Amino acid sequence: MAALGCYRLPVPIQRRYTTDAIVLSRFDYGEADRILTLLTPGSGKVKAIAKGIRRQKSRIGGSLEPFAELRLALAHGRTFDVVTQVEVIHPWLRLRDDLVSFGTASYMAEMAERTQEERHAVESVYLLLKRGYEILDAGMAPGRVARWFEMHLADELGIRPDVDRCVECGRLLEAGERYRWVPPIGGVLCERCPGPPHDTAGMSLEGLKLLKAYQRMDVEALAALRVRPEVEAEVESAMRAFIPRVPGRGPRRRSARASGGSKVIFDPNDERAVHALARLAVDRIAWLSTVTVDGQPQTMPIWFLWVNGEILIYGDHRARRNANLEANPRVSMHLNDDGSGNDIVVIEGEARIEPEHPQVPDNPAYLEKYDGWIDQYADGPAKMAQTYNLPILIRPTRVVSIPG
Ligand SMILES: [Zn+2]
Repeated sequence: MAALGCYRLPVPIQRRYTTDAIVLSRFDYGEADRILTLLTPGSGKVKAIAKGIRRQKSRIGGSLEPFAELRLALAHGRTFDVVTQVEVIHPWLRLRDDLVSFGTASYMAEMAERTQEERHAVESVYLLLKRGYEILDAGMAPGRVARWFEMHLADELGIRPDVDRCVECGRLLEAGERYRWVPPIGGVLCERCPGPPHDTAGMSLEGLKLLKAYQRMDVEALAALRVRPEVEAEVESAMRAFIPRVPGRGPRRRSARASGGSKVIFDPNDERAVHALARLAVDRIAWLSTVTVDGQPQTMPIWFLWVNGEILIYGDHRARRNANLEANPRVSMHLNDDGSGNDIVVIEGEARIEPEHPQVPDNPAYLEKYDGWIDQYADGPAKMAQTYNLPILIRPTRVVSIPG
């Protein structure tokens, strides 16, 4: 099972699709690739890989930038969809010229990234981000755009702050009274209700009016508002205190169905975890360590498939490691490094033998991944299945990922 220098992953035509998209974030992967997090109107957040994009000759390199609306052609992949074509629809070039508007655009992308689920379409959030970039590009004050975006995103997420009625008693707030802004309970408290003292939580009437304006006014009217800088600052810190309530902070839980019930460890917002996922999707050789009954660790190269959050191996039914696994299911698996000790991916996990799992000839994803190798090294799927017919699934319990 010697590794080949290159390989191809054939992509059938019907697995291609076209979508509008905004790049939310990206990071370099391998020598010339880049992994992108996209927001799309029809599929929500999507992770995609742009292969060879960092090479000078790349056709698509220059156009796959954040803060632009793109039309992409993609091919479905197991872990990441693959970008095959890019067309820039709206480059929004002006918003990049100014550091503050650039920073605001980054902030909005980050908010969208952490609040949206993968493959969960919310077209209104896509349109919100698109509109935000349009008005930023048109020169609206970045602070106003940011507050407008925060308020409407909160609305989309179903946590619109209450600025008309007291969150505690429900009474309509009156112009003559004193208000307190209490983010943990979702809005403004009237002067009659108990709560934090006015000198720490107090909010001015102008601040309250500006919050209402962000909820009600269209952007043209907002852009034209004259507001004292102190009031803008007050509303900015009010929204800053409110925003941590927006869901999505911290590690994401994968749904039990998507992960096959495996232990939660891959945080899609963690670059290192995503890098490990990318390697697991494309690497064809891993090294598996098991421990013999008398405690001796043993390591062998394996072929594997990353599927539903677990590692699938077709073991040789005669292998000694099967007895190791029966006695001690704890294993360690690592991928190859880059040749100089960098780019490390190590998975620790628990293995189980699942005789009922589909065998090699009935596993299209496995056949696709090892296309070529199965014929070359194992005399075809049927022959391979005579020997390598012991499906072993490894549920990861810990991942070490140190991108190069
Ligand atoms: Zn009240």
